[in-house]
Amino acid sequence: MWLEGTAMSEHSCGPRHAQGHDRRQILTSLLGAGLAGAALNAPRQALAEATRMAPIPGDELFMRMAIAEAAQADFPFGAVIVRDGKVLAAGRNLGTTTNDPTAHGEMVAIRRFVASRPAGELKGTTLYTSGEPCPMCMGAILWCGIGRVVFAASIEELAAKIGQIMLTSRAVADAAPFATIAITGGVLSAEALALFSK
Ligand SMILES: [Zn+2]
Repeated sequence: MWLEGTAMSEHSCGPRHAQGHDRRQILTSLLGAGLAGAALNAPRQALAEATRMAPIPGDELFMRMAIAEAAQADFPFGAVIVRDGKVLAAGRNLGTTTNDPTAHGEMVAIRRFVASRPAGELKGTTLYTSGEPCPMCMGAILWCGIGRVVFAASIEELAAKIGQIMLTSRAVADAAPFATIAITGGVLSAEALALFSK
């Protein structure tokens, strides 16, 4: 926090200092900018609220639905969005069918949800996905205020089957201090991974 505060004040004082700064001030400004960069790249554990959560009853049931979606997908990835024990939207990878490389299972499920309900109702839902969300999907999940993510196969496991951006869902969540999310991994991962062998 101190680093960010320092960096901010260096920036906001910039114009005032511009006319008369000596070498020391320039050095301080450069140092401030460097520190700001370092702060941006540093882990945000202290600010973020991504928590690891153990599986709870019902997780396997909904994961089986996500895996059933994945079994019909262009690439074997599927997702369902759940609240109070009810599936409110489902999606599967439609990257080829829709000529849209962003049509990952999670994105399709979110788009279907908001097609029929206010986006605000995504808050507090749980998203079950057969594969750990990639950075694009995890970003969308955080912007939507989804409260919990449950995934089957991890990015590390998926990387042995299909190309992945090697950034975990937790790393993305930890970089989003505005979001509070619980993450549960490894629910029925063997079943999700088996789809890649079919
Ligand atoms: Zn994705």
